[in-house]
Amino acid sequence: MKLLDIKDLNLAGKKVFIRCDFNVPMDEFGNISDDRRIRSALATINYCLDRDCAVIIASHLGRPEGKVVAKDSLLPVAKRLIKLLKKDVTLAKDVVGEDAMSKAAALKQNEILLLENLRYEPGETKNDKELSAKLASMAEFYINDAFGVSHRAHASVEGITRLFENEHKAGGFLLQKEIEFFSKLIRKPVRPFAAIIGGSKVSGKLEALVNLLPRVDKILIGGGMAFTFLKQLGYNVGASLVEDDLLEDAQHIMDEAKRLGVKFYLPVDIVVADKFSEDSVSKMVTAQEIPDGWIGLDIGPATVRLYREVLNNVQTVLWNGPMGVYEIEKFARGSNNIAHFVADSYATTVVGGGDTADLVQRIGLDTELTFISTGGGASLELLEGKVLPGVAQLMVDDGEDDYS
Ligand code: AMP
Repeated sequence: MKLLDIKDLNLAGKKVFIRCDFNVPMDEFGNISDDRRIRSALATINYCLDRDCAVIIASHLGRPEGKVVAKDSLLPVAKRLIKLLKKDVTLAKDVVGEDAMSKAAALKQNEILLLENLRYEPGETKNDKELSAKLASMAEFYINDAFGVSHRAHASVEGITRLFENEHKAGGFLLQKEIEFFSKLIRKPVRPFAAIIGGSKVSGKLEALVNLLPRVDKILIGGGMAFTFLKQLGYNVGASLVEDDLLEDAQHIMDEAKRLGVKFYLPVDIVVADKFSEDSVSKMVTAQEIPDGWIGLDIGPATVRLYREVLNNVQTVLWNGPMGVYEIEKFARGSNNIAHFVADSYATTVVGGGDTADLVQRIGLDTELTFISTGGGASLELLEGKVLPGVAQLMVDDGEDDYS
């Protein structure tokens, strides 16, 4: 299968709809704290502008859940786009309302219109056909450059792709780069291949863990999800995050790992705190000795040393999810240390997921890694061998099995 290529489209002077992922992190004052997602889309936007297109851009931001929520407006994104593109960008007052539709209709070559937050429309996350049709009616060409949401069957991501002929739709440069990278990684990972999986819960990554098992040689667990596994092994986990309804699944994953010969690692020591906050009292304990009432918030130094040994001989590393509550400095050490080994390693190193990408960037290691994916969930689904809903209709058969 091959992704339809933006370079094959006859875009000159035409009206183009680009779905981007501008779901950027904001600080408490509503300022964009990391604009990487916006900068990643510039190649595609500029390519269209160089061809004198009229460019309509759409994205979601946050979770306004189908209602207009002022704090989730794309206004800060519009301002940042103006700065980065050095061109004027008009922000529509709505998504497919009168303002957006009339501005889209009147848009001229070389002008840029940004629609308001797609998730102001309740139909977006429901993949509503009417919404897809309205969005599609704005332009002659559709480009998906929103890798981070391509695993979601949403109206501007999936439904809309069904409304354009192959000669009128394609993946943008960011989408192409991500898909090509992960397809190589699935087809020919250089072994040994280790997956470091952290983050808050098992539930978010359960399927990914099950599906990664046959593809990797080692799995290293960190973050909140470790405690469900530790509890299943019979350890006292105090007041740590545990998903009791997933204990059996945790056992199944450990059994499968054993059956497949995958080395499965859990933290051997933990940084515990008396409460979930900066000013908590914290201490290091072994995984066997978590006291009642204490919360595990980071992996300890022995785990860091163990994981360094485990990663020593690997040739490919995939990392998704922090090892602890890295947003609080005193629980960020485990994640920071792991980030340093991963960055120093000679292996192919891939980081996926907003939080993990954020943490490597915070400590200035982002340039040391082979690849930082803009989509955590989407990259895991690709590695599971799934075809992403937002990409399925943008693929053509070229006689090969995988994406290429
Ligand atoms: P995820 O979105 O599942 O990758 O989870 C990322 C979040 O997991 C981050 O916000 C971390 O603060 C959180 N996290 C990591 N370790 C723990 C832990 N031990 N307990 C609770 N939350 C955690």
